[in-house]
Amino acid sequence: MTVGVLALQGAFALHQRILESLGVATTQVRAPRELAGIDAVVIPGGESSTMSMLLERGELWEPLAERLADGMPAFGTCAGAILLGREILDGRDDQRCLAAIDVAVRRNGYGRQVDSFEEPLAVAGLDRAVNGVFIRAPVIEAVGSGVEVLSSLDVGSGSAQPVLCRERTILVSTFHPELSGDARLHEMFLESI
Ligand code: GLN
Repeated sequence: MTVGVLALQGAFALHQRILESLGVATTQVRAPRELAGIDAVVIPGGESSTMSMLLERGELWEPLAERLADGMPAFGTCAGAILLGREILDGRDDQRCLAAIDVAVRRNGYGRQVDSFEEPLAVAGLDRAVNGVFIRAPVIEAVGSGVEVLSSLDVGSGSAQPVLCRERTILVSTFHPELSGDARLHEMFLESI
């Protein structure tokens, strides 16, 4: 199995390193022909509007959307979660999403004051917390009935926001799991496929 890491922009290198530490072959994806040899894809954090534009400019949008529609597994982190969702709130007018998972995601949803923070997160199926590193993170505002919420962030007054969600073999996190020196979420993704 080869996992492609979308490498147009953003935080792709550490994803590759973590996947390789788990014994998986990886390849960077920048061009349509590079999609042909991959069995799953990681869409990293970065800037979702820039990635959307680069995907279109590089003629990667349609072939990537087709592979996802055919059931290719994907793990999207932060900007990657925005791209994989079905609806973007507060997006740039020209940015698109791939609609691979039934979530509505608000860009930069934690506002400016708290645009970066870390929080330990309990994750379904894991015995120890994961350190959630949130960097100008989006907020998942709505999830469809087929979506499992695997972790939520307590945001006070009894409410919690989903931060790790899965639908079939599409996994998204609004935080950066590759930054916490912890391979367990990548392992969880690989186990699901
Ligand atoms: N704010 C970025 C966006 O809108 C996401 C930030 C990130 O990936 N760390 O795409």
